[in-house]
Amino acid sequence: MKPVIGLSCSTSTDAGVRPVRRYSCPEPYVRRVEEAGGIPILLPTADPSRVPGLLALVHGVLLIGGDDVDPSIYGAAPHRKLGPVDHARDEFEIAIARRAAADALPALGICRGCQVMNVALGGSLIQDIPAEVESPLSHAGRYDAAHDVAVTPGTRLHRLLGRKQVAVNSHHHQSIGSPADGFDVTARTSDGVVEAAELPGHAFFLGVQWHPERMPEADATRRLFRAFLEAAVARARSVGGSARPKAASKPPRAGRRAVRG
Ligand code: MN
Repeated sequence: MKPVIGLSCSTSTDAGVRPVRRYSCPEPYVRRVEEAGGIPILLPTADPSRVPGLLALVHGVLLIGGDDVDPSIYGAAPHRKLGPVDHARDEFEIAIARRAAADALPALGICRGCQVMNVALGGSLIQDIPAEVESPLSHAGRYDAAHDVAVTPGTRLHRLLGRKQVAVNSHHHQSIGSPADGFDVTARTSDGVVEAAELPGHAFFLGVQWHPERMPEADATRRLFRAFLEAAVARARSVGGSARPKAASKPPRAGRRAVRG
């Protein structure tokens, strides 16, 4: 059984006389989901009212990286180092994160996705690490191993990685500021920057600040995506969306599948 994983998208606008908006998702996210046994589908930005219907189609969601989150959403004034923002994408992904958190839908947040999870649950962000963190490590521009993260023992992240220290890449200038209530910080760098957080007791609601999808050979990447997909398989079984019929049950009638969101 292959669970369906919905991936969020970034938006860009063509130059030219009749510009159109385009939705896109970097290939490494898609490949890692496939390698871990999932069926990736893209979820282009839509009105937040569409989120329940969209999430009824999937067994897990992957919130991908991207631009900065609009600080007005978490009640902050824009810092002078704030990068471009896409308010519509923010609202869409925040609605996804809230729904996933409330509905036990497995969710993995990567980089911006981890930040979106925190804002969705009521937390805030550091808008620019070099400007706001004292003696920060270099967190920008490295898709190969850039720094270690210390993982908190006893957390889901620690159990799935099987270790307390992991070398990860780093390509971000923002990070979690105040963690949302209940969204537990599970990894930090030596400068104190938050590198992972999770909702304990949830089926799988976990964000990482690094880019595991860009380190396909790393043991930590395989373990992270495997654990996410295992939770999505369990979700698929529980909702019956793509579950094989049990031996004792009647085969499903064509055209009728019990799917709930
Ligand atoms: Mn980092």
